[in-house]
Amino acid sequence: MNYPDAVQIAIPAFIATMILEMFAIRAGLRGDYDWRDTGTSLAMGFGNTFAAVLFGATVVGIGTWLWQFRLFDIPATLPMLALCFIGEDFTYYWFHRTAHRVRWFWASHVIHHSSQHYNLSTALRQTWTGVFSLSFAFRLPLFLIGFPPEMILFCAGLNLVYQFFIHTEVVRRLPFGLEYVLNTPSHHRVHHGTNARYLDRNYGGVFIVWDRLFGTFEPELDSEPPRYGIIKNLASFNPLWVAFHEWLGIARDVAGARSWRARAVAMFGPPGALSGETADEIRAQWEAETAPAPAE
Ligand SMILES: [Zn+2]
Ligand SMILES: [Zn+2]
Repeated sequence: MNYPDAVQIAIPAFIATMILEMFAIRAGLRGDYDWRDTGTSLAMGFGNTFAAVLFGATVVGIGTWLWQFRLFDIPATLPMLALCFIGEDFTYYWFHRTAHRVRWFWASHVIHHSSQHYNLSTALRQTWTGVFSLSFAFRLPLFLIGFPPEMILFCAGLNLVYQFFIHTEVVRRLPFGLEYVLNTPSHHRVHHGTNARYLDRNYGGVFIVWDRLFGTFEPELDSEPPRYGIIKNLASFNPLWVAFHEWLGIARDVAGARSWRARAVAMFGPPGALSGETADEIRAQWEAETAPAPAE
């Protein structure tokens, strides 16, 4: 089977929907654009593509090398493609969850969350250091199981394309019960929210089912619009700073640490562990504040 490059094919659709979204926002629908912010997102997207050209072959090489030790010979059929798509999304969930809980992976993933706006251009804000952070390791089991490497890469591309379209405030809720199964604009707005209620929730890529299964689902409340961004926002549109600020933060904290334990926490602890502001701590404090007073 010959697999097309899903992302490349989708680029005209990305541009067309971005223009449509801008018109919809102008016409008074929800959402906003900030030109400097969108410019930075575009620069991050270009840089990500450049990094993929530079380092992508290494990742494909490692996957293909592992594939020779595969457990099963999986044929390139449509049912197997569907299974691969679901499996790839499952590995995405665990990658994404780890990317928010372990600072080493967060240093790469934080780029995607660094915009304080939420529109289709935000989706282009992609990491430059994904290969360096080794986040592709989460996908390697698919090669070992025996899905054909080209099939896995095709599914990963489809997943990325799907996720582009959910970065919008224009669409409020999807019909036909799709909100139960799919990751939707509403669910992903929650994921980009820094409200205590929304922190570290809705990690799913295409399917929201994983979050429902593994206890990380949070529905969007119309009474509580998400405040987009990260806990300590960057106040910078400089693509280099956006790409590397958290890595520099890790280097600074490791250099200043006095014990091996502190160094380990600086690299592999939850983001915010050193300043006492992890997502769990912020959530616990919020829950203590909003808990109903005990009855007398
Ligand atoms: Zn994320
Ligand atoms: Zn996103």
